Amino acid sequence: MYDFAVVGVGPPGARFARRAAERGHDVVAFERGQVGEPLACSGHVSLDVWEYVPEAARERLHQNDVYGARFHTGGPGSEAHEFYYTDRPVSNAVDRVELDRVLAAAASDAGADVRPGHTVTSVRERTDRVALEVRNAEGVETVEARMVAGCDGPRSRVRAELGLPDPDEFLHGVLAFDPEPDAEDFVDVHLTVPGFFAWRIPRGAAGVEYGLAGTPDETGDVARRFDAFVAEYGVADRIEHRCSGLIPIGPPDRVTTDRGFLLGDAAGMTKPFTGGGILYGMTAADVAASTIDPGDPSTLAAFERAWRGELGTEIRLGRLLRRGYDAPKLLQEAGMRLFSGEIGVHMDRPSTLFSRAQLAALFDR
Ligand SMILES: Cc1cc2nc3c(=O)[nH]c(=O)nc-3n(C[C@H](O)[C@H](O)[C@H](O)COP(=O)(O)OP(=O)(O)OC[C@H]3O[C@@H](n4cnc5c(N)ncnc54)[C@H](O)[C@@H]3O)c2cc1C
Repeated sequence: MYDFAVVGVGPPGARFARRAAERGHDVVAFERGQVGEPLACSGHVSLDVWEYVPEAARERLHQNDVYGARFHTGGPGSEAHEFYYTDRPVSNAVDRVELDRVLAAAASDAGADVRPGHTVTSVRERTDRVALEVRNAEGVETVEARMVAGCDGPRSRVRAELGLPDPDEFLHGVLAFDPEPDAEDFVDVHLTVPGFFAWRIPRGAAGVEYGLAGTPDETGDVARRFDAFVAEYGVADRIEHRCSGLIPIGPPDRVTTDRGFLLGDAAGMTKPFTGGGILYGMTAADVAASTIDPGDPSTLAAFERAWRGELGTEIRLGRLLRRGYDAPKLLQEAGMRLFSGEIGVHMDRPSTLFSRAQLAALFDR
């Protein structure tokens, strides 16, 4: 019997598998497809991502340095309000498929048994273990572990099998790429989508990414809006590799049971104001590895408290920030005029809006 069975090998699953294996636990990690595929993510992350990536892989993953964002209340060509760092990049565009592969390889190197091509179809909790039905090309097997980690994305099978509640909301995101290289320093954000936004991210030699996300209910047809967005940019006939995915917003009240817990998108561990979940998921994975003892189910309560302690305030503040996306245009414009310029905020931590660095940046203008 394994100590942990991890379902899903995206960033949080791979990270948890690695950290748990490094602590001496027997870990098996199932991935239904090939690790990193299919792509449905911008891979736009704060520089914190490098703390999770082995040194040797960094150059391979890095695509572009981003120093700031131009916010628009209108579409392409509308007035822009710039928010930026001057002395270092705010964020990086990284190769997301390769990131997942590197993180999975690090988990294998640490001793986790990572198995691509394995789909978990059911999870049964018993008093002292969990039993998973796992399907692969050869057939179906039952695998037992002391605990299961559901890292299987927004439409988590593990969450449903354990009877845990869904995240509050799901956004629908669409993206595609113009292959023309662009190493510009700024991303563009267009607050033209109800409840969310559209974006343009220069990715160096990997081209330019165009994307849009919104609440299907409020936004109507997200795909149609995306078509209009890329047409406005004049790239409709150039874009390729179009893909889409769900973005969960708002973690449910409970992400643990007696022998199971959720991480990453399965648990709604994303930034409500950007939908980014790579770093929140891996942060929570580290919290899980350091708090959960597979032989002691009572440690799951400690994990539930600890991850909310780490990310709860940021998620709450992120929700408040997101409300600004639906504020009247005049108010948005006034707010952006007031705060635009050099900033001191960390893109994963809205609490840094109140930091000394941010105040210094404001008053130095
Ligand atoms: C359009 C879009 C753009 C985004 N851009 C960014 C961004 O720029 N920055 C950022 O930080 N975040 C971004 N995100 C969010 C980010 O992609 C997620 O937060 C992140 O991928 C969460 O990782 P995860 O492993 O929890 O889920 P996923 O990446 O969905 O991975 C879950 C894994 O579980 C596997 N799986 C599912 N079910 C099973 C099963 N039954 N058995 C075995 N395996 C299973 C899947 O195949 C998958 O590999 C974006 C999301 C979208 C949709």
